[in-house]
Amino acid sequence: MINKKSKKLIFSAIFIIMILTISSIIFSHYENVSWLSLFKFNSYKIRLGNETIRLKKKDNTIALSENDLKAMLQHQYNTTEVYIQFNDTDYKPDEEGTIFLPIDKDNENVIYNLGQLFAFDDKGWITNYIDLSIDDNKFLYVVEDKSYSNVLEDITADIHARLINKDNTIPDDFNMENIVPIKGIKAIISSRDMKLDKETLDNINLLLSKAEDDGVTGFVINSTYRSYQEQKNLFEYRLNEKKNSGVENAFEETAKFVAYPGTSEHQTGMALDILSLKYPKGSEFPNSEEYAWLMENCWDFGFIPRYPEEKVEITKISFEPWHFRYIGKPLSLYAKETGYCLEEVVESLRNNKFTYFETSNNEEYIFLLIKKRQDFIAENRLNMDCSLLELTENEDLVILKLSF
Ligand SMILES: [Zn+2]
Repeated sequence: MINKKSKKLIFSAIFIIMILTISSIIFSHYENVSWLSLFKFNSYKIRLGNETIRLKKKDNTIALSENDLKAMLQHQYNTTEVYIQFNDTDYKPDEEGTIFLPIDKDNENVIYNLGQLFAFDDKGWITNYIDLSIDDNKFLYVVEDKSYSNVLEDITADIHARLINKDNTIPDDFNMENIVPIKGIKAIISSRDMKLDKETLDNINLLLSKAEDDGVTGFVINSTYRSYQEQKNLFEYRLNEKKNSGVENAFEETAKFVAYPGTSEHQTGMALDILSLKYPKGSEFPNSEEYAWLMENCWDFGFIPRYPEEKVEITKISFEPWHFRYIGKPLSLYAKETGYCLEEVVESLRNNKFTYFETSNNEEYIFLLIKKRQDFIAENRLNMDCSLLELTENEDLVILKLSF
């Protein structure tokens, strides 16, 4: 006979075994959750002011979502405009946007270097490494270095990408100090005293040498630098022609074909009109092999076709297949890749503020739009290949060449 006491014991034992069995069935669904970690307060968190975000663990890693990382950085840098350039490492988010940070039990002070942060507020841009670490209470935090300096202090803005049109005029003496005579160029020139901007001339020489290597040699350079006064004379001459032949709206009609003084790219020496020996008429130029070669290769030398047929509505200038403008690389490559005319390039950079761009030969760039007099503050340890372009009267573009 089993006495009452033993019965109670047996039932208790069965009850405990059942609980353990059920628990192990339930918890077996959660990988790597040990009994120890269940009872020990062991979860990782992010603190955002009064809010706490709990992070999941998976395979001995902390699973951090890209959105939570963004929220953390937004909070830290006190702006909603936060952009992340991840390093090409294990800490890159997966397809679901999750970053896995391995937990190192032997080394509590691990620093996870995720990449580079770009934060934009009303003062301008700030950039820093994204270094994360874990404190004693298992809170993930951003390690911040306080040694910053303004990158733009020592940089003069390059003017070659400046947008020039009816709404974006240039002063009479714009870029005059860099205008040089054309000598020994591998093309027929239509007059002896032609001039160009120095950098534009260097690049047109490189372009013409490459064209010659490719067997394309029939280029005619028709129009280059024009001073403000020459542009004014040209405009007035064409205007009078229209008026004398009784054209209505003579001014508007003239402005479609000749830029009003202060709005012509020819005044900068950074634009030139190119034709073909076989097709000397502008309207026939698109039939030439010179045109086909330029449309394929001009971008690699910093040039863009400035007034394409399909962009007339945007440029407000009629199709000018002969007019090429030097804006420099990598912006010319960005224009090629996107299919944008210069107005659209500026508009897209303005709308996005932060633009990542990879060229076809895997050079990586970041474009940051900045208002004049705004700052670009970088953490001192960051080693950056940085340049500055003047886009409009009030806006500049910071270009960073990435080298991870
Ligand atoms: Zn032109």
